[in-house]
Amino acid sequence: MKRVVLLAGHNFNSPGCHTVIDGKIVTEFDLTTLLVAEIFKKERLMGIDLIIKARNDYSNLVKEVNSLNADYLISCHFNAYNAKTQGTEVLYSHISAKGKELAIVAQKKLLKHLGLNNRGLKPITLKDRGGSILNKTKPVAILLEPFFLDHITAKKELDDLMKKTENAILDILNYIDIK
Ligand SMILES: [Zn+2]
Repeated sequence: MKRVVLLAGHNFNSPGCHTVIDGKIVTEFDLTTLLVAEIFKKERLMGIDLIIKARNDYSNLVKEVNSLNADYLISCHFNAYNAKTQGTEVLYSHISAKGKELAIVAQKKLLKHLGLNNRGLKPITLKDRGGSILNKTKPVAILLEPFFLDHITAKKELDDLMKKTENAILDILNYIDIK
Protein backbone atom coordinates (compact mmCIF):
# COMPACT_ATOMS: atom_id res chain seq x y z
CA MET A 1 0.00 0.00 0.00
CA LYS A 2 1.41 3.37 -0.99
CA ARG A 3 1.69 6.06 1.65
CA VAL A 4 0.99 9.64 0.57
CA VAL A 5 1.52 12.80 2.61
CA LEU A 6 -0.86 15.58 1.61
CA LEU A 7 0.54 18.80 2.98
CA ALA A 8 -1.39 22.03 3.55
CA GLY A 9 0.94 24.80 2.39
CA HIS A 10 1.75 27.72 4.72
CA ASN A 11 0.74 28.18 8.35
CA PHE A 12 -1.24 30.26 10.81
CA ASN A 13 1.49 32.84 11.33
CA SER A 14 2.46 33.03 7.69
CA PRO A 15 -0.74 32.30 5.76
CA GLY A 16 0.56 32.91 2.23
CA CYS A 17 -1.38 34.86 -0.37
CA HIS A 18 -4.99 35.98 -0.04
CA THR A 19 -8.02 37.44 -1.69
CA VAL A 20 -10.99 39.45 -0.41
CA ILE A 21 -14.48 38.02 -0.81
CA ASP A 22 -17.57 39.84 0.48
CA GLY A 23 -15.28 42.15 2.46
CA LYS A 24 -13.55 39.25 4.19
CA ILE A 25 -9.94 38.14 3.77
CA VAL A 26 -9.56 34.54 2.62
CA THR A 27 -5.98 33.31 2.95
CA GLU A 28 -4.11 30.60 1.13
CA PHE A 29 -3.72 28.74 4.45
CA ASP A 30 -7.53 28.88 5.04
CA LEU A 31 -7.94 27.10 1.73
CA THR A 32 -5.06 24.60 1.89
CA THR A 33 -6.27 23.31 5.28
CA LEU A 34 -9.85 23.10 3.97
CA LEU A 35 -8.68 21.28 0.84
CA VAL A 36 -6.63 18.59 2.59
CA ALA A 37 -9.45 17.96 5.10
CA GLU A 38 -12.05 17.58 2.34
CA ILE A 39 -9.82 15.13 0.48
CA PHE A 40 -9.07 13.17 3.65
CA LYS A 41 -12.81 12.63 4.14
CA LYS A 42 -13.19 11.23 0.62
CA GLU A 43 -10.16 9.01 -0.04
CA ARG A 44 -11.30 6.10 2.12
CA LEU A 45 -12.41 3.96 -0.77
CA MET A 46 -8.90 3.94 -2.20
CA GLY A 47 -6.10 1.55 -1.37
CA ILE A 48 -3.71 4.27 -0.26
CA ASP A 49 -2.48 5.26 3.18
CA LEU A 50 -3.13 9.00 3.22
CA ILE A 51 -1.63 11.29 5.84
CA ILE A 52 -2.74 14.91 5.90
CA LYS A 53 -0.41 17.37 7.48
CA ALA A 54 -0.36 21.03 8.45
CA ARG A 55 2.27 22.64 10.62
CA ASN A 56 2.60 25.98 12.39
CA ASP A 57 6.36 25.65 12.81
CA TYR A 58 8.28 25.09 9.62
CA SER A 59 11.72 24.46 11.12
CA ASN A 60 11.33 20.68 11.40
CA LEU A 61 8.95 20.13 8.52
CA VAL A 62 11.39 18.40 6.16
CA LYS A 63 12.61 16.12 8.96
CA GLU A 64 9.04 15.34 10.00
CA VAL A 65 7.94 14.55 6.49
CA ASN A 66 10.93 12.25 6.08
CA SER A 67 10.13 10.47 9.35
CA LEU A 68 6.75 9.44 7.93
CA ASN A 69 8.42 7.15 5.35
CA ALA A 70 5.94 8.08 2.67
CA ASP A 71 6.20 7.16 -1.00
CA TYR A 72 4.73 10.44 -2.23
CA LEU A 73 4.37 14.00 -1.01
CA ILE A 74 1.82 16.41 -2.45
CA SER A 75 2.15 19.97 -1.17
CA CYS A 76 -0.94 22.13 -1.74
CA HIS A 77 -0.72 25.83 -2.49
CA PHE A 78 -2.54 28.57 -4.36
CA ASN A 79 -0.84 31.20 -6.44
CA ALA A 80 -0.99 35.00 -6.58
CA TYR A 81 0.53 37.69 -8.73
CA ASN A 82 -1.26 40.81 -9.93
CA ALA A 83 -4.96 39.85 -9.61
CA LYS A 84 -5.07 39.52 -13.43
CA THR A 85 -3.04 36.37 -14.06
CA GLN A 86 -4.82 33.02 -13.92
CA GLY A 87 -3.67 29.47 -14.61
CA THR A 88 -2.27 26.20 -13.30
CA GLU A 89 1.31 25.19 -12.44
CA VAL A 90 2.91 22.13 -10.88
CA LEU A 91 6.36 22.31 -9.30
CA TYR A 92 8.85 19.46 -8.84
CA SER A 93 12.50 18.97 -7.92
CA HIS A 94 14.70 19.67 -10.94
CA ILE A 95 16.74 16.52 -10.24
CA SER A 96 13.84 14.08 -9.72
CA ALA A 97 12.72 12.08 -12.78
CA LYS A 98 9.92 10.48 -10.75
CA GLY A 99 8.86 13.88 -9.47
CA LYS A 100 8.65 15.14 -13.02
CA GLU A 101 6.65 12.09 -14.09
CA LEU A 102 4.11 12.68 -11.32
CA ALA A 103 4.07 16.43 -12.02
CA ILE A 104 3.12 15.72 -15.66
CA VAL A 105 0.19 13.56 -14.54
CA ALA A 106 -0.89 16.06 -11.88
CA GLN A 107 -0.79 18.99 -14.29
CA LYS A 108 -2.92 17.06 -16.83
CA LYS A 109 -5.52 16.23 -14.19
CA LEU A 110 -5.64 19.76 -12.80
CA LEU A 111 -6.03 21.19 -16.32
CA LYS A 112 -8.79 18.71 -17.13
CA HIS A 113 -10.82 19.55 -14.02
CA LEU A 114 -10.13 23.28 -13.72
CA GLY A 115 -9.96 24.25 -17.39
CA LEU A 116 -7.59 27.17 -16.75
CA ASN A 117 -4.45 28.28 -18.63
CA ASN A 118 -1.62 25.81 -18.78
CA ARG A 119 1.31 27.64 -17.16
CA GLY A 120 3.38 24.48 -17.33
CA LEU A 121 5.65 22.48 -15.08
CA LYS A 122 8.26 24.27 -13.01
CA PRO A 123 11.52 22.47 -12.20
CA ILE A 124 12.62 23.80 -8.80
CA THR A 125 16.13 24.06 -7.36
CA LEU A 126 16.93 24.24 -3.66
CA LYS A 127 17.11 28.04 -3.81
CA ASP A 128 13.69 28.49 -5.47
CA ARG A 129 10.31 28.96 -3.79
CA GLY A 130 9.28 25.52 -2.45
CA GLY A 131 12.89 24.41 -2.84
CA SER A 132 13.49 22.59 0.41
CA ILE A 133 10.18 20.71 0.56
CA LEU A 134 10.75 19.46 -2.99
CA ASN A 135 14.50 18.85 -2.88
CA LYS A 136 15.20 17.77 0.71
CA THR A 137 12.35 15.33 1.29
CA LYS A 138 12.62 11.61 0.56
CA PRO A 139 9.20 10.88 -1.03
CA VAL A 140 8.50 11.62 -4.69
CA ALA A 141 7.35 15.21 -4.25
CA ILE A 142 5.24 17.71 -6.18
CA LEU A 143 3.81 21.11 -5.28
CA LEU A 144 0.43 22.10 -6.73
CA GLU A 145 -0.55 25.65 -7.71
CA PRO A 146 -4.04 24.92 -9.15
CA PHE A 147 -5.12 28.56 -9.57
CA PHE A 148 -4.30 32.19 -8.73
CA LEU A 149 -6.26 33.06 -5.59
CA ASP A 150 -5.88 36.81 -5.97
CA HIS A 151 -7.78 36.62 -9.27
CA ILE A 152 -10.91 35.33 -7.49
CA THR A 153 -13.37 37.81 -6.01
CA ALA A 154 -16.66 35.87 -5.91
CA LYS A 155 -17.53 33.17 -3.40
CA LYS A 156 -19.28 31.05 -6.01
CA GLU A 157 -16.24 31.05 -8.28
CA LEU A 158 -13.93 30.15 -5.39
CA ASP A 159 -16.19 27.30 -4.22
CA ASP A 160 -16.37 25.97 -7.76
CA LEU A 161 -12.58 26.04 -8.24
CA MET A 162 -12.01 24.46 -4.83
CA LYS A 163 -14.38 21.61 -5.66
CA LYS A 164 -12.64 21.06 -8.99
CA THR A 165 -9.23 21.13 -7.31
CA GLU A 166 -10.44 18.55 -4.80
CA ASN A 167 -11.63 16.27 -7.61
CA ALA A 168 -8.35 16.67 -9.49
CA ILE A 169 -6.34 15.67 -6.41
CA LEU A 170 -8.60 12.66 -5.83
CA ASP A 171 -7.79 11.73 -9.45
CA ILE A 172 -4.07 12.10 -8.75
CA LEU A 173 -4.41 9.86 -5.67
CA ASN A 174 -6.30 7.32 -7.76
CA TYR A 175 -3.46 7.33 -10.27
CA ILE A 176 -0.92 6.73 -7.46
CA ASP A 177 -3.12 3.95 -6.07
CA ILE A 178 -3.32 1.93 -9.29
CA LYS A 179 0.19 2.77 -10.54
ZN1 LIG B 1 1.89 29.13 -1.32
